[in-house]
Amino acid sequence: MIAQAIKQIQDELPHGVRLVAVSKYHPNEAIEAAYACGQRVFGESKVQEMTAKHETLPKDIEWHFIGHLQTNKVKYIVPYVTLIHGIDSYRLLAEVDKQAAKVGRVVDCLLQLHVACEKTKFGFTPDECRAMLEEGRWKALSHVRICGLMGMASNTDDIEQIKGEFRLLSSLFHEVKATWFAGADSFEELSMGMSEDYHEAIAAGSTLIRVGSKIFGERDYTKA
Ligand SMILES: *Cc1c(COP(=O)(O)O)cnc(C)c1O
Repeated sequence: MIAQAIKQIQDELPHGVRLVAVSKYHPNEAIEAAYACGQRVFGESKVQEMTAKHETLPKDIEWHFIGHLQTNKVKYIVPYVTLIHGIDSYRLLAEVDKQAAKVGRVVDCLLQLHVACEKTKFGFTPDECRAMLEEGRWKALSHVRICGLMGMASNTDDIEQIKGEFRLLSSLFHEVKATWFAGADSFEELSMGMSEDYHEAIAAGSTLIRVGSKIFGERDYTKA
């Protein structure tokens, strides 16, 4: 079932869009089944869980951290993480920079934007993001590279609302790129779209879809 779902999604990905297989709360065996189909990019939302999986699974897996990252846990993932999707404050970005410097890496990061209607979701508002970039301290951080934006649409059945939120994220991506990253080829990722809405996200310009339950089935939150 995992193999079938992975293949189906891989086959429908347009050029320039990559799949992050969100394996949180699923065991190594599930990841190995996806790995056997050629999937190499996996997304996790808990530091301890991702680190344990990194230590026991093949070394050519790219680990993407997609959850809310606490500053005191940054040091555990910085040695190996490929992309941190959820940078939601300057303070967190600066901590990633500090820890990355210690291990001699430059860590790729995405700024998380909050555009959904739920109050609980993390992220910069568009104005907070603009203010952080305009303020400019991030330019001195030499061990992080801001590679784009990440966002989530509201958890709703209203497809027009979801499409509108993805279009807003896309327009923010283009605005931020033109304003602060005009010469930077590395600012190229727009991470949006999950199991229920990734088709709409791709239509709006996503380059990284984060799909979990459609591949691995429902998560059992009582485990891990
Ligand atoms: C869990 C999670 C996903 C995957 O959600 P599904 O609905 O299972 O595809 C994507 N993005 C983030 C940030 C998540 O936390």
